[in-house]
Amino acid sequence: MKKYLLLSLFCAGIISASAQTKEEVKPFTKPKLVVGIVVDQMRYDYLVRFWDRYQEGGFKRLVNEGFNCKNNHFNYIPTYTAVGHSSVYTGTTPKAHGVIGNNWYDKVEDRMVYCTEDAKVNSVGTESDAGKMSPWRMTSSTMTDQLKLATVSKGKVIGVSVKDRGSILPAGHAADAAYWFHGSDEGVWITSDYYMEELPKWVKKFNKSDAAESYKKVWNTLYDIDTYTQSIADQNPYEGAFKVEKAAVFPHDLPAIWDENGKFDLIKGVPFGNSLTADFAMAAIEGEDMGKDEITDFLALSFSSSDYVGHRYGVSAVETEDMYLRLDQDIARLLEFLDKKVGQGEYTVFLTSDHAAVEVPAYLEDLKIPGGYVSNKEFHAKLNEFLTETFNSDALIKNISNGQIFLDQEVIKGLGITSRVIEDAIVNEIKNYDHVAQAYTGYAMRNTEFTKGIAAKLQEGYNFRRSGDVVFVWDAGYLATSSRTGTSHGSGYAYDTHAPLLFFGKGIKHGETVKRTEIPDIANTISALLGIAFPSGKNGEPISEVLE
Ligand code: ZN
Ligand code: ZN
Repeated sequence: MKKYLLLSLFCAGIISASAQTKEEVKPFTKPKLVVGIVVDQMRYDYLVRFWDRYQEGGFKRLVNEGFNCKNNHFNYIPTYTAVGHSSVYTGTTPKAHGVIGNNWYDKVEDRMVYCTEDAKVNSVGTESDAGKMSPWRMTSSTMTDQLKLATVSKGKVIGVSVKDRGSILPAGHAADAAYWFHGSDEGVWITSDYYMEELPKWVKKFNKSDAAESYKKVWNTLYDIDTYTQSIADQNPYEGAFKVEKAAVFPHDLPAIWDENGKFDLIKGVPFGNSLTADFAMAAIEGEDMGKDEITDFLALSFSSSDYVGHRYGVSAVETEDMYLRLDQDIARLLEFLDKKVGQGEYTVFLTSDHAAVEVPAYLEDLKIPGGYVSNKEFHAKLNEFLTETFNSDALIKNISNGQIFLDQEVIKGLGITSRVIEDAIVNEIKNYDHVAQAYTGYAMRNTEFTKGIAAKLQEGYNFRRSGDVVFVWDAGYLATSSRTGTSHGSGYAYDTHAPLLFFGKGIKHGETVKRTEIPDIANTISALLGIAFPSGKNGEPISEVLE
């Protein structure tokens, strides 16, 4: 029935309002496949800086057809890989998901632990211990877990990244699989018996192919090096060379430096690692028939080579620019593949990062912009000296890591004082140390509700059971390292917190916002889109502007 006819019948009182046939508006969208993309160490401004250099089908397609959250931030400290991946997928912060670092001091085990290490499980696909991993230390559910629950396990969930933690944490606790790349002599994709007893056929086939081997080649710039005008000169003092390489300049001859740089591990450290990840992701979609029926599947994909390249060369290097131009091509290739295999408009993508990065502090120093270097070792020694003088004990500090000081509670008891006395004394003392910007006691973290600024970010990163007794941050632009080349991340400053956030595809509006959005909003937005239950630790909100 034509609209005007319906309207005139309605006006003439021939049909009542309730009799009008309305199209049912479902309160959810069911894409056949969700592809979550985390680009390790990607800063928001990489979208802008290289915009004119990107092709139409990659980052530009996501922005031009999708939704761009231009003011998206991490809202906790520390901004490290495992913490970022956990926060993206759990829709909450370390306060609830418990992943307080890549490595952290575990008070119960009295040692440094790695986020995904798990002695209870075994490697699958390698004789090495590289597969003894699981998500067991992450203590809240992920959106991928919730999809599993919502589909009574019929929706497939698979994690893929060259880094174990970049695959395992996003895939969640109930995943069908998480695969990561084991370099060394092997160059194979592996997993753990947390997920399965044996690699599926398609993975074995992929591992037997020359997929990884084909990237053992020279890394040269994609285009004429003179066209890399968004970066500083290729030869500069801020970049770290590979072992046995004379300088950190193009071309990087991987076969010539292969043996000295961990063999297949070398691929992780160059843009080819991202290409290999895209290759494997497409093999996974095909091998697992993902996105083939009406039950939503989820591919949790992380491009992690960007982090290794960033650490080695820094934010403004030609190598970094070249890597993003290549990643752009990999993303275009992936989207084209999804159009073909799943169908245009039948899948949903989001793209973000797990943390951003600071410019190389030595470069900042040369430009007279605040930044520089501090020494954790000197900090530890000086603080220990103070505590020894003041409390007559040199055994009060158990560990200092990730900007957290862990005290020995047994020793404190023996002194007949409370932990709070020592915590207050430490905060009072280190406020006088060079480049310590802020410090808070664990007591303050537990008993004061901070709403803004660094204190609030420290509190979001503070886990009641796992975190230290004093938390502190360095001045902006400072890294705790002795190396003056390359960069890192971990702080709560804008250069580490400002991350891209793009949504694209089924159920997503076209548009952009400069309204502040935060990393924990992502899982809650995808949950709202799918109409599934929010992850257990939810503390972000769905970004309503994004959803159709
Ligand atoms: Zn990372
Ligand atoms: Zn990193």
